[in-house]
Amino acid sequence: MTKLLTILPAFVIEKMLKKKQHPEKRGMVNVYVCSHCHTQITFVYLDSGVTPDTIQCANCKKPSAHSCACRIDQPDSVWFRPKNMGEVKQIMENAFAHDEEQYITSCKKQGIGIKDLKKQILQNYIIHYNQGGLFSRKRV
Ligand SMILES: [Zn+2]
Repeated sequence: MTKLLTILPAFVIEKMLKKKQHPEKRGMVNVYVCSHCHTQITFVYLDSGVTPDTIQCANCKKPSAHSCACRIDQPDSVWFRPKNMGEVKQIMENAFAHDEEQYITSCKKQGIGIKDLKKQILQNYIIHYNQGGLFSRKRV
């Protein structure tokens, strides 16, 4: 008699369960490497969840692109577009608070007050923003 159902080996089931308990997190980067032609396919997780261990290679079309399970250097910073001018101003305030001493030194060199320097910086940020500029921050 032929078995209609393929029984998965215990280690495969264990691996699947383990993966579901530790889904990849939103924002992480993963790469699949083809064991046949060495093509790399890179993914960004837009949502947290579970993905296959192996996928079809985009180059040779063989089902041999294996997941590195995010065990690669993850990006530590991102480029983003602020939602509005309020956010641009907040970015400037944060940058100022982060490097306050450097800005104070800059004021002394230019012979201007902190308020004027902040105004100058904000104007530059606004020009950058209006020209389609992105801002950077640490990845969350
Ligand atoms: Zn391939």
